[in-house]
Amino acid sequence: MPHTLERITVFTGSSPGRGEAYLTAARAVGTRIAQRGYGLVYGGGNVGLMGAVASAARDAGGEVIGVMPQALLNKELAHRDLSAFEVVPDMHARKMRMADLADGFVALPGGIGTLEEFFEAWTWLQLGIHAKPIALYDVDGFWDPALALVDRLVDEGFVAHGLRDHLIVATDPDELLDRFLQWTPPPPKWPETTSPTAALR
Ligand code: AMP
Repeated sequence: MPHTLERITVFTGSSPGRGEAYLTAARAVGTRIAQRGYGLVYGGGNVGLMGAVASAARDAGGEVIGVMPQALLNKELAHRDLSAFEVVPDMHARKMRMADLADGFVALPGGIGTLEEFFEAWTWLQLGIHAKPIALYDVDGFWDPALALVDRLVDEGFVAHGLRDHLIVATDPDELLDRFLQWTPPPPKWPETTSPTAALR
């Protein structure tokens, strides 16, 4: 059954990265998400790639929801032109809210914050806390080392093949969105688990 897709959460760097390629990719993803009628959920900042993806989506007329912890309001410079801006108590509440609002997650290039958010969303899928697609958006092989590590984890028996096979890796915004729509969840890691969300609340 095709996956329902209304809003997409984007994790990406609070820095712009070196050169223009990352900024260009972030703008392309934000623009296309909006043009195809999807909402964008992100960390709410107006810095780095996160600011670029949000501004591009707004410029294309899209819905953009920012979710930011109180403590980061000044540091990540809250974006002033969003459809909605939610202030949450802390980082944990931010990730929970971004996960609740979205029907899928994509990590664009970024730093340790981006990695942390991506891997947490992916582990929640593994545990059955949600059943939403997870994607890496690649720019010039940026994610190759991370994918090599994940493949090693699979080879060494620490990650299920199914989980890896259901990870979307895309290099073009339309490819990304089409694959979100076609996605089906991997087999559950712990099929007997009945209410995994209870562990988070
Ligand atoms: P970075 O990739 O390090 O530039 O960070 C990208 C985004 O991730 C920024 O909005 C950070 O505030 C956010 N971030 C970093 N660590 C966490 C965390 N533990 N939970 C939620 N967001 C985080």
